[in-house]
Amino acid sequence: MNDKYFDMITLALKYGCEVREREPLSAHCTFRVGGDCDVFIEVSSAEALKELVCLAYEQNVRYFVLGNGSNVLFSDEGYEGVILHIGQRMNRISLLDGGRVYAEAGASLSRVCTFALENSLTGLEFAYGIPGYVGGAVFMNAGAYGGEIKDVFVSADIITEDGEQLTLDLSDMEMSYRYSKLMINGSIVTSAVFKLQSGDKAEIKAKMDELMGKRKAKQPIEYPSAGSTFKRPEGYYAGALIEQSGLRGYSVGGACVSEKHCGFVINKGGATARDIRTLIKDVQRIVQEKQGVSMEPEVRYIPVREGDSL
Ligand SMILES: Cc1cc2nc3c(=O)[nH]c(=O)nc-3n(C[C@H](O)[C@H](O)[C@H](O)COP(=O)(O)OP(=O)(O)OC[C@H]3O[C@@H](n4cnc5c(N)ncnc54)[C@H](O)[C@@H]3O)c2cc1C
Repeated sequence: MNDKYFDMITLALKYGCEVREREPLSAHCTFRVGGDCDVFIEVSSAEALKELVCLAYEQNVRYFVLGNGSNVLFSDEGYEGVILHIGQRMNRISLLDGGRVYAEAGASLSRVCTFALENSLTGLEFAYGIPGYVGGAVFMNAGAYGGEIKDVFVSADIITEDGEQLTLDLSDMEMSYRYSKLMINGSIVTSAVFKLQSGDKAEIKAKMDELMGKRKAKQPIEYPSAGSTFKRPEGYYAGALIEQSGLRGYSVGGACVSEKHCGFVINKGGATARDIRTLIKDVQRIVQEKQGVSMEPEVRYIPVREGDSL
């Protein structure tokens, strides 16, 4: 065991977390690329997380909070530090009064949507099929088909970088298109509350099925990817800009601009993180040259070391 992590690992085990060393990150992200991390902790509770974050702060241990890995690109060299995975050990969902739904950060959005359906609650149908967990969805203000998390968000319990536990409401979060304040302050979501409305179960189900059908028809979900690779530049659609730049099917190694939906970069088989990163940069450069539009990636690069590129 690397001495640097001895106290973190001991603390994690004390709180009943699962701990693995040299865990391949390719198993924990939907691009299916990335080398090993030093330590991978499956976090067992908000309390454990708070203690781990405090210790990491004190000992200057680098960490990264991971949900379902559906919007991250890890380096081929992996991650020097600790991955705090908020997933299956923190995934409870419950019904509060007034049509409010409580979900821990590790609950998948699809499960929360199904829970809402079972309780005849409408408002979250847009999120059905977004393959993220609640924490990642709040962090990203995930959205689709005219809806976004911000529309149903009431509050989130969070842990700040120095271990303070707070409840933030919508005004604290400053949510906008694929943005929340968590992106700059480093706070971690442990749970969230969403406000939904009473609805007709059959109509809710029909909407969810319709949107899932659209995803299957239009998106290359049969390949590993991180969904839409780029944010929508104001006044444009990323996929259309890429297509008009002649980049449909453009590839670098195993990474490829999807033929089915040009807004998706896919791993066609054997792609490295470097292939994907290079392809993203190529697309940005060519679209800028040909269309005069700058495109910002939505997917988040996680370097192996602070300050490194992939
Ligand atoms: C096929 C496909 C389709 C997609 N469709 C959509 C779509 O329609 N709309 C959309 O918005 N996105 C879409 N995405 C992207 C992705 O699913 C969303 O951004 C999702 O919200 C990410 O959640 P996650 O749990 O996977 O986060 P991760 O990828 O694990 O992490 C993303 C970021 O969130 C942070 N984070 C994760 N958990 C927490 C937490 N508990 N507290 C604080 N920060 C946290 C991470 O540190 C990281 O910076 C799609 C992806 C795929 C692969």
